[in-house]
Amino acid sequence: MKKTKMTVGLSSILALVLVLAGCKGSVEDQSEAAISDPMPSSTEVPWQSHGNDWGEQRFSELKSINLDNVNELGLAWYFDMYTDRGVEATPLMVDGMLYVTSAWSMVYALDARTGELVWFYDPKVPREFLAKGCCDAVNRGVAYIDGQVIASTYDGRLVSLNAKTGAVQWDVQTTDREQSYTISGAPRIAGDKVIIGNGGAELGVRGYVTAYYVKDGTQAWRFYTVPGNPKDGFESKAMEMAAETWTGEWWKWGGGGTAWDSFVYDPMLNLVYLGVGNGSPWNQKLRSPGGGDNLFLASIVAVDADSGEYVWHYQTAPGDTWDYTATQHMILADLDWKGSLRKVIMQAPKNGFFYVLDRETGELLSAEPYSATTWATHVDMETGRPVETETARVFDGKNVTVPSNAGAHNWPAMSYNRETGLVYIPTLQLGIQFKEPTHARDMLPAQGYWNQGFDRTNYVVPQLPNIDEIIDSSVTGQLLAWDPILGQPRWTGNLGRVTGGGVLSTAGNLVFQGHHDQFRALNAETGELLWSNAVHTAAMAPPITYELDGEQYIAAAVGFGGGLGAEGGSAAHGWDISTNLSRVLVYKLGGDVVAPAPDTVKEPIPKPPPLTGTPDQIQLGQEIYQRHCSVCHGDGLRTGGLSPDLKRSKAGVHDIWQQIVRGGLLQSAGMVSFAQFVTEEEAEAVRQYVLSVTNIAYEQQQASADQP
Ligand code: CA
Repeated sequence: MKKTKMTVGLSSILALVLVLAGCKGSVEDQSEAAISDPMPSSTEVPWQSHGNDWGEQRFSELKSINLDNVNELGLAWYFDMYTDRGVEATPLMVDGMLYVTSAWSMVYALDARTGELVWFYDPKVPREFLAKGCCDAVNRGVAYIDGQVIASTYDGRLVSLNAKTGAVQWDVQTTDREQSYTISGAPRIAGDKVIIGNGGAELGVRGYVTAYYVKDGTQAWRFYTVPGNPKDGFESKAMEMAAETWTGEWWKWGGGGTAWDSFVYDPMLNLVYLGVGNGSPWNQKLRSPGGGDNLFLASIVAVDADSGEYVWHYQTAPGDTWDYTATQHMILADLDWKGSLRKVIMQAPKNGFFYVLDRETGELLSAEPYSATTWATHVDMETGRPVETETARVFDGKNVTVPSNAGAHNWPAMSYNRETGLVYIPTLQLGIQFKEPTHARDMLPAQGYWNQGFDRTNYVVPQLPNIDEIIDSSVTGQLLAWDPILGQPRWTGNLGRVTGGGVLSTAGNLVFQGHHDQFRALNAETGELLWSNAVHTAAMAPPITYELDGEQYIAAAVGFGGGLGAEGGSAAHGWDISTNLSRVLVYKLGGDVVAPAPDTVKEPIPKPPPLTGTPDQIQLGQEIYQRHCSVCHGDGLRTGGLSPDLKRSKAGVHDIWQQIVRGGLLQSAGMVSFAQFVTEEEAEAVRQYVLSVTNIAYEQQQASADQP
C-alpha cells in the first residue's frame, strides 16, 4: 500500500508544480487515477471515484461535448432500475462498466456502452428500516478500488463486491441494528481504507465515522463525532475536549452529529475530512441546556487517515439548534489566494455561508453568505465564529428562520470548474418557524423515533409573515455560480420552486444539472440554458461524464424522492408527482433512443367513510398526526407519493386502523407500531383528522369533476 501512496504523492506533486507553472490540465486528474488504477486504457476516461478526482471537484477535462454541439445530445441508452423511489446516486464508470445504485441500496453493473445489465446485487434491506431514517431509502453510490465495488446499505452494512461478477467478498455491519442508524452516503476510498458514516440524528443516535481495510473489511479506526456519557470514559482526547462544550445529560438524547454524506481524502496530506451533522435533538435547550458549542456538531473535522486521530476542526454553527448540518459536499482545490497558492477545502453547508478553509491547518480564509440568513449577520474573521442576530434563537412559532432546516444547500453535490474558477452550488431558499415544544412527551429523549425537540404541530404549511422581505419566495431554487476567491456569485440561474439536483461541470464549458423533471446543460460562463431533456421523474442525483472508444457520454440517474423532494417538502412547495420511476439515462452526441414516459394516471380519491369526530377530537388528531405521522405521510396529508397518501386509503384501512397504528400490522412495509407514543383514543383522533382532510379533498375532487 505504501507504494501506491508514494505514486499518488509524486504525481500530485507533479500536478502541483504544473499548476504553479500555469499549466492547468489533466495531470491533476491523472494523479487521482493513480490511487487505484495505475493504467486506465487509452480509449477510456473513467469516472472512478465519487467526486471524480481526489478533490471531489466533479469536474471533467472532457470536451467533445461542448458549447457548439451540446444541442445535438440525445439518449444513447437507458435502464430502468427495480424501484420507484428516490435516486441520489453518483454512478461510477470503470473498465467499460457503469456502477449505479437505486433505493434500498441495490447495486446495478451495466455495460457502459449499451446499458445491458451485467450483474445485480440486492442487499435485501428489511423494509422496516424505512422508519429508522429521515429521508427515504436513498443511496448515493458505490466506491471502486482494484476490481472491488464497495457498497453501503441502508441497514448499516458495507459490502465488498467483485467488480466483474458482483460476488460478495466481504460484508460487515457498521452499526447497531437495534438503534436508528441508516446509511445513505457513498463510501469513500482513502488509501487502503474505505470510509463510511451514518445517519439518524433525527432519531436519537450518536454519530461516528469508521474506516475499514478494503482488503478484508476489518476495522481500522472509528471517530466519534460527539461525546458519549463521561462516566463510560472517553474514546479519545478529542472526545474529552468535545465533552467540555456540552452540558446536561446529552448522551440520553443521543447527541447526533451523524456524518451521513460528505467525506473527502487528501492523499498528499494524508487527511480525511469529515462533514458532521446536526444535534439530536435539534433543539439545543433540550440537548445541552446550559448551551455550549457542542463539538463536533455542524463541523468539518480533519482526521489522520491512518489512525483516525483528530487533527483540526472548524465549526460552522456553534451550538447548532437549527439542523444546520455541515454534511454537505466538500471540495479540495489548490487556489491562487491573494498572491499565494493555498491548499483549500470549500463547503456551502446548510447555514447559508460559503467557507474557504486552509485544509492543512483549518485556518478560515473566507466565509461569505451565499444565501439570505436571518440567524447570523456575518462570520467574524478574527474569531472564526458566526455573529448571531438577536432573533437567531427565538422559537415562538412566529419568528421566521432562513435558511430553513432544509438548508440553503443540501446533499446535491456542487462542482468546481478549474477553467472558469467557479463553484456551482444548487441552492435553496426556504424559511421555517420553529416552535418550542409544549407537550411533555416532546421534551423527553425518545430514541428510535422522530424527535427534533420542536413542536411539529406548527409545521402545517406555514404561512410565513414577511417572507418576501427576506427572500423571493416564488424562486426558492437557484443554481449559483460562485466565485470562491471574491466570495460572491458570478451568475444566478433561477430554477423556480424547490432545489435543483447535483452538478457536473466540464472543460466543454458546460454545467449539467437536473431540475424537476428536466435534465439540462447550461453555459458554464453565463448560465444560459443550452439544452434540456424531459426525464419523466425528478432528476436529483449529480450526473457524471466518461469517454469510451473516443466517444464522450453523460450519465445521470433519476428518480423522485429523498428528504427534500419527498413527502411534505415536495407537495408543500409545489411539487406533487403522480407517478415515479428509477432510471439511468446515458446521453451522447447524436443519440436517438427514446425513453418512454410512465403511465401518469393518478388514482382518484375513493369515497371515504363519513366523518364522525368532534372538533376537539379532530384538533387533537391533527396535533398527534403532525408530531408522529407527518414526517412520512406529509405535512397536512400532502404526501410526495413515496409513503401512502392517506387520502387514498381504501375504506378497509379504517376498519383495521388500530392494528396498523398501534399493532404494527404493516411493519414489514415500513409502518412500525406507535403504541409507545399513541393511545388508542389518540389513534382514533388521528383517524378522525385524516377523515376530515380526506372528506374535504374528496368533495373538491367531485366538484371539479362536475365542472364542464
Ligand atoms: Ca438533519
